[in-house]
Amino acid sequence: MNHQLLREIPKVDELLRSSTLGRFCGEMPRVLLAEAVRGELDALRRDILAGAADALPGEEALCRSIARRAKRLMQPSLRPVINATGVVLHTNLGRALMSERSAKAVQQVAMGYSTLEYDIEKGQRGERYSHVEGLLTRLTGAESAFVVNNNAAAVLIILSALTAGGEVITSRGELVEIGGSFRVPDIMESCGAKLREVGTTNKTHLSDYAGAICADTKALMKVHTSNFRIVGFTESVAREEMVALAHAHGLIAIEDLGSGSLYDLNRFGLRDEPTVQDSVRSGMDVISFSGDKLLGGPQAGIIIGKKEYIDILKHHPLTRAMRVDKMTLAALEATLMSYAEGGAAEDIPTLRMLGTPEETLRARAERLVSLLAEKGVQAETVPVEDQVGGGSVPMQLLPSYAAAVCPESCSADALETALRLGDTAVIGRIDHGRYLLHVRTILDADLPLVAAAVKEALR
Ligand SMILES: *Cc1c(COP(=O)(O)O)cnc(C)c1O
Repeated sequence: MNHQLLREIPKVDELLRSSTLGRFCGEMPRVLLAEAVRGELDALRRDILAGAADALPGEEALCRSIARRAKRLMQPSLRPVINATGVVLHTNLGRALMSERSAKAVQQVAMGYSTLEYDIEKGQRGERYSHVEGLLTRLTGAESAFVVNNNAAAVLIILSALTAGGEVITSRGELVEIGGSFRVPDIMESCGAKLREVGTTNKTHLSDYAGAICADTKALMKVHTSNFRIVGFTESVAREEMVALAHAHGLIAIEDLGSGSLYDLNRFGLRDEPTVQDSVRSGMDVISFSGDKLLGGPQAGIIIGKKEYIDILKHHPLTRAMRVDKMTLAALEATLMSYAEGGAAEDIPTLRMLGTPEETLRARAERLVSLLAEKGVQAETVPVEDQVGGGSVPMQLLPSYAAAVCPESCSADALETALRLGDTAVIGRIDHGRYLLHVRTILDADLPLVAAAVKEALR
């Protein structure tokens, strides 16, 4: 029985010549079409062998499946999705969204020549990092600044250039793993520095640092515990005290700030996230943070601090291997301009999303529910909790709203899959058998698209 069916599967060449397939995919490149035909026929063969098919599909149905497969092959792998998870800095979905101003700056610099390493006033070679250094020092109060590819690279170069061959003292409560196997102890080792852990997981005192200082000590390092919190009976040492101790012994005070907010998040009701300015004011010598977490700019590692140390970093051989390209600099300069002009909360999508008032979110969820109703899809507005994400402010959830769909014709899992694989890919959440579309991270202009995608997915 199976063998008979297998013999009846059409040949690849026959299908490629067939007018039915031509009707469905006339304009598709032949190489892709051939791959789609082979893929579809292989799948069919597997189904028959597994006993999952007891008849061949008609020519029309087969060609339709091939066309769908070919269309998927033509889609770019890196493509836009709609984030309906309510996680603002979603690392898997691209972290911070760039502002319109940043995206425009990138486009201009990408498509034309620029002053990347050209001093236009003197008419001679200029400095790549000069475009953002002035803005960074003005905004943070630091003496000097420069930028590498991401914050992981920033930490690597700081430790390599300033502490190799010596010891770095860090609190046990701050030995974090950020994800993607970036662990503070391992990084130190690979930079040629020896980690001296002090204190306990929940408590570290100034005397712990002081007691560990020896002839080999090069630096005291504070690491922001971005993605976790130790709560309860805890104690850590204030930045100012750490800095005073370091300087009394001729040591460098380093801080890996992680998220690195320039904006006071208390204004959004988010507590305990230090600003970059706080760290600079405390007297830290070298500070690093990400460009695409709470700053809301492009992927970058921003390093600020005392000129004598930043100069050493700028001239270290690793710097050349970690240098940022013109698109990053264009986006970062535009992002920083928004802060400098006082318009960051309006311009920067990350801050806009974190600061959206609850009434606005409820109204947006209600609008989505009514757009869905117009398409014949039943949904209701429900209160939910959103997250900052990106390993920032892990303990505090943001009160928000979602449109909840309880599909009658299929499971929430099936709806999730269909939405993820649809023409407009939508990534939402499943909760107690309901499919939730968190509206904080959906742009207003995308609401009709989301409603249409749900309707299509349920079809
Ligand atoms: C996120 C983070 C990093 C890594 O930053 P990237 O920009 O993702 O490379 C390093 N240290 C801390 C504390 C972080 O939170």
